Amino acid sequence: MSAANKLLLVVMCCRLIVTVVGPTVLDFNDGNNNDFQLSTNPSDLARASSDFGMLRGGVAPVEPAAVFHPTSDRDIAQLIRAAYQQGFPAVSARGHGHSINGQANTAGGVVIEMSRLAEGHADGVRREGPPRPRIAEEMRYVDAWGGELWIDVLRACLEHGLAPRSWTDYLYLSVGGTLSNAGISGQAFNHGPQISNVHELDVVTGKGEMVKCSEEENQELFHAVLGGLGQFGIITRARIAVEPAPQRVRWIRVLYSNFSTFTRDQEHLISLHGDGRNKFDYVEGFVIVDEGLINNWRSSFFSPRNPVKISSLGTDGGVLYCLEVTKNYRESTAEIEALMKELDFIPASVFTTDLPYVDFLDRVHKVELKLRAKNLWEVPHPWLNLFVPKSRIDDFDKGVFKGILGNNRTSGPILIYPMNKSK
Ligand SMILES: Cc1cc2nc3c(=O)[nH]c(=O)nc-3n(C[C@H](O)[C@H](O)[C@H](O)COP(=O)(O)OP(=O)(O)OC[C@H]3O[C@@H](n4cnc5c(N)ncnc54)[C@H](O)[C@@H]3O)c2cc1C
Repeated sequence: MSAANKLLLVVMCCRLIVTVVGPTVLDFNDGNNNDFQLSTNPSDLARASSDFGMLRGGVAPVEPAAVFHPTSDRDIAQLIRAAYQQGFPAVSARGHGHSINGQANTAGGVVIEMSRLAEGHADGVRREGPPRPRIAEEMRYVDAWGGELWIDVLRACLEHGLAPRSWTDYLYLSVGGTLSNAGISGQAFNHGPQISNVHELDVVTGKGEMVKCSEEENQELFHAVLGGLGQFGIITRARIAVEPAPQRVRWIRVLYSNFSTFTRDQEHLISLHGDGRNKFDYVEGFVIVDEGLINNWRSSFFSPRNPVKISSLGTDGGVLYCLEVTKNYRESTAEIEALMKELDFIPASVFTTDLPYVDFLDRVHKVELKLRAKNLWEVPHPWLNLFVPKSRIDDFDKGVFKGILGNNRTSGPILIYPMNKSK
């Protein structure tokens, strides 16, 4: 039985009125004179049932029964209200599908495609898509559609000389997708993760209600949805804090062979947060367990003209640690030099680049394009994120970085972000 027939059967059981418009489009009426269309187009179903993880190991992907392309929050509310009232199959939101293990999919249910694919509609008719980012310059915020990619939020803000404050390393992720997790990058020690930089949300709840929530209004829903993995409602609009966009970035990487020295410096740098202090704007790091890794996506920064001779650096158990920092600056770099003097890295291992702010934020996309050209982007990505308390980080280094990973010469990025618990 085709997916379209299966869905027809389910929906007829639910007493919704459904018309098969074509082989790949179903017209719905929810009984309240609200019409909407679901797509069973094979390319929509295939897209909705795959993700960046690609971890199915040869097993056929589990498909949703249909895909919904909303053009507004009202569309989403109608679909979910019908689902709730009529006992419809499960519904899930999909941003850019860059999570893993089918997190944004729902087997046999309806996937709401939040991204702007909505503008190329299932029936081929072009409709106006979801609202574009709206910037309030004086109030310093941007209102963004839940399916908007962060790169597009950034571009819209830059037209006003503004930019959001807290980021992920990669910008081709949706607003709703990262706010459903946390959105952590090297700015989190200072500004907190992305979920700490949201003033207000519009959410469609599991009953199909459209609710505005914030710290002041419907607070419980606000905190449930932020970091809620799409389980407490669908974010249709987020009001995100912005700041004047920095112009230039000095991007520095230095190496350590001693883990304790590395973490001591990371912890020192993230203790310098808040206004009026000389501090870096971004503090991250990564672990190098294999010399080959120096050339992988995370490390393409190292210039071929300036090769890193890891063997000459005297590694501790074969493992090296790279501290990565940036400072936004206009003219003087004296503050950067002062901060560098406070650190205890291997002196011969300083790699420095100066670049425009946008190029720094969009750095992973450049690597994506290179990997795509070699067919190395759309490959399986087993992926794990962990919070490790400071009290156990040395044990973690011995057991995991030097032990499990070091002994197996694992390749693939191993990031180590220092974070303040209070943020
Ligand atoms: C190359 C790469 C780099 C990354 N770097 C970082 C990083 O630096 N920091 C970091 O924090 N994360 C990072 N991530 C992880 C990423 O933030 C999460 O996987 C995120 O969920 C992906 O966003 P997405 O739009 O693709 O979401 P999807 O994969 O489409 O969805 C993820 C989850 O969010 C839910 N969801 C999606 N949209 C909405 C919505 N509008 N309302 C409610 N729920 C919704 C889905 O149902 C699902 O549960 C990275 C991922 C990749 C692939």
